[in-house]
Amino acid sequence: MRLILLGPPGGGKGTVAKRLQAELNIPVISTGVILREAIDKKNKLGIEVENIMRKGGLVPDHIILEIIKERIKQEDCKNGYIFDGFPRNIKQVNSLEELNKELNKYIDYVFYFEIPFSEIIQRLSNRRVCKKCSTNYNLSFNPPKKDNTCDLCGGELYQRADDKEETIKNRLKVFAKQTTPLKKYYKEKKLLKVIDANLSENAFLAIKKVLRGMH
Ligand code: AMP
Repeated sequence: MRLILLGPPGGGKGTVAKRLQAELNIPVISTGVILREAIDKKNKLGIEVENIMRKGGLVPDHIILEIIKERIKQEDCKNGYIFDGFPRNIKQVNSLEELNKELNKYIDYVFYFEIPFSEIIQRLSNRRVCKKCSTNYNLSFNPPKKDNTCDLCGGELYQRADDKEETIKNRLKVFAKQTTPLKKYYKEKKLLKVIDANLSENAFLAIKKVLRGMH
C-alpha cells in the first residue's frame, strides 16, 4: 500500500505516520527527517540544504527526487510506504507519477490533514522532537514524562531550527502557495480523503477506517 500524508506543517502527519507504520508494517518516508539527518551528519547534502531549511523554504526538486528515487527502491518498500512531507509541489507530483509508472506502481490514497491555521502556530512553537528516533512531543498537550527526554527511547528532545516563529510564518506561506494546489489535484484524481486533524488520535482512526474499507 502506498500512501501520501498531505497537510500543513504541524498538522500531525509525522505522529500519525509513525502509528500507521507500526499498524501496516510499511516504512514512513519523511523527506524532512532525511534532510535533518543529513544536516546533523554535516555531509554534502546537509550543507547544501541547511540554510534553505532554516528559512523555511523548499529544497530544490532535483535533490528531493534523488532522495525519493533511491529510497523507494529499497527492499523494505516492496510492500509500500507512507510519504510524509512529499510531494510538496506540482512538479514533485508529476515526477512521482513518472517514477511510479516506470516501476509499475501507483498511489492508493492521499490523506489531507485539515487543521485551522490558528492551531498550527501554537502546535509548532510548542513542538519538541527526539534527536534519536524523531518522535514528536508537544509541551502543552503531549509533554514527555521526563523533561527533555523521549519516553520511547530516552533520546534528548530539541526544538527544530525551523519551529521558530518567524520561520513558521514563512513555512505556512510556502505551504499555502506551493502545496495546497495538490489537494485539488488529488481530488480530481479521486485519491483524496480529507481527515479532521484536530486530534491526532482521531486522524489515525479515520485513516484506518478508510483503509479497512479498501478490502
Ligand atoms: P518537514 O519536516 O516535512 O516539515 O520538512 C522540513 C523542511 O524540509 C521543509 O520546510 C523544507 O525546507 C524541507 N523539505 C522537506 N520535504 C521537502 C520536499 N518534499 N520538497 C522540498 N523541501 C522539503
